[in-house]
Amino acid sequence: MYQFSRAIYRELAPHIVPPCPGAPAARNHAAVLRACEAVVTRLATDRHYFARPARTLFWDIRAYFPMSEQSHVHQVVSRYIDYAQQFVAAHPIEGYAAVSGAPPQCRATTRKGAACQRVPLAHNGYCPSHQHLAETEDRELAAA
Ligand SMILES: [Zn+2]
Repeated sequence: MYQFSRAIYRELAPHIVPPCPGAPAARNHAAVLRACEAVVTRLATDRHYFARPARTLFWDIRAYFPMSEQSHVHQVVSRYIDYAQQFVAAHPIEGYAAVSGAPPQCRATTRKGAACQRVPLAHNGYCPSHQHLAETEDRELAAA
């Protein structure tokens, strides 16, 4: 998964503005890389609750670039986050394992209050026993 955040960082790194005088020279570069990794991590582990990853990342990092680069930054972020979203949609288990080192779990909570340990289905993140929760969710979204 981090190939996507690294690709964004590599393409944008030459345009990052220098930090304010007195701050460590690598500070802004580190902040941009961290923001890219954070969004990719969240996309891989929590994509059902992450509505607009490209917009989130653009807003997180845009302050580190000059005005003249904003549309370029937006394009690069949109392109690679789009690739990353396609990847996690096609390979949700691999994407999750790549950032967390563990297989994904069902999003539901059991009657005893613990997280459900079963392997979720790719399309909605719930295991076969908790599919009804996905249907409730869809109705709530449609009503909203
Ligand atoms: Zn479950």
